[in-house]
Amino acid sequence: MNNTPIEAMPGAFDAVMDITPRPPIVFIGGQGSWLTDASGRRYLDFIQGWAVNTLGHSPRPIVEALARQAEALINCSPAFYNAPMLRLAELLTRYSGLHQVFCANSGAEANEGAIKLARKWGAKYRDGAYEIITMDHGFHGRTLATMAASGKAQWEQLYAPKLSGFIKVPLNDLAAVEAAITPRTVAVMLEPIQGEAGVVEATDAFLRGLRSLTRECGLLLILDEIQTGIGRTGAVFGYEHAGIAPDIMTLAKGLGGGVPLAALVAHRDVCCFDYGDQGGTFCGNPLMAAVGCAVMEEITQPGFLDHVVRAGEHLADGLRALSRRCGCGEVRGKGLLRALALQRNVAPAVVDAARKRGLLINAPRADSLRFMPALTVTLDEIDQMLTTLDRATNEVLAG
Ligand SMILES: *Cc1c(COP(=O)(O)O)cnc(C)c1O
Repeated sequence: MNNTPIEAMPGAFDAVMDITPRPPIVFIGGQGSWLTDASGRRYLDFIQGWAVNTLGHSPRPIVEALARQAEALINCSPAFYNAPMLRLAELLTRYSGLHQVFCANSGAEANEGAIKLARKWGAKYRDGAYEIITMDHGFHGRTLATMAASGKAQWEQLYAPKLSGFIKVPLNDLAAVEAAITPRTVAVMLEPIQGEAGVVEATDAFLRGLRSLTRECGLLLILDEIQTGIGRTGAVFGYEHAGIAPDIMTLAKGLGGGVPLAALVAHRDVCCFDYGDQGGTFCGNPLMAAVGCAVMEEITQPGFLDHVVRAGEHLADGLRALSRRCGCGEVRGKGLLRALALQRNVAPAVVDAARKRGLLINAPRADSLRFMPALTVTLDEIDQMLTTLDRATNEVLAG
């Protein structure tokens, strides 16, 4: 018998594919805004699984939904209806005003579905139009189609040949979108706030302009709400701030509160898949859908989103004050999706310094830090974060 814990064994990390530089820490527990590693050390978590843990680590509503649904029914095949799938679809259509939902397992898969739905609609109703206008620096996922839809410069040549049919324009440049429209165009697709690009907002004026332009030209507006949806910005969906609605929206991250769950949500006029065009073995499974229902029910409780707005303002105020003290740059974002611009490319160093002090934050760009705490984060936890961040930033800027 060998009782050595796996993380203490020599070469324990070697069997995990090396796709990102992970620190040699093994997490074994989480509660609310806090994570615990194998040595018992606690970390204040402002990454939260990558903006997925809407309700924090191991929240009661999700633990109970999982336990209850696991006892009742885990999987019954995507060829049959199940109760959580129906309930989740009803909740998402009720709050979005859209009409039909396809459940998926990841953001990229939901976006693939959106791209396929737009192309199908173009083939049926727009004379074979298939081009989708997307934004420079946008991020839509890591499958081949969603990488092609993304506007990451580092991905231009990766995994060639690339899927064609995506035309890139600068964010917030309506004239550029207009100029890019051809008879082949079927849709415009973007994030209301570009998360991976460093929390860069599409302006309300741009979103409204896009809504009018796409209507005028008979094009679809596809919003990737994977990072901005499910309360993250202080509204159920990010587009609500601009007072518009898309034809197609995709959700993932926060929808599952930590479990793999995504959704493709569309207006009834666009829902034109024929049998066999779309599907997936795990799509709409009751176990994950039950979690999605629990998350939706929590974030739509009276006062929940008011807390997100208040906590988001508290975070932004604190970051602005820190920025003035430390000589950093602007604070971007909405609700509990915020970024702090540093004037130099020191964000990865600040992330490391913060982690050594027990704080987990993310650097989407070398010059920016991103904050995506649980939507249930307390003002006190935000203050603790700011204190540690202040020390870590000063340490890096001084060194
Ligand atoms: C995370 C993200 C995706 C990809 O989601 P996965 O679940 O990682 O496939 C797509 N779009 C946006 C805006 C995202 O933030």
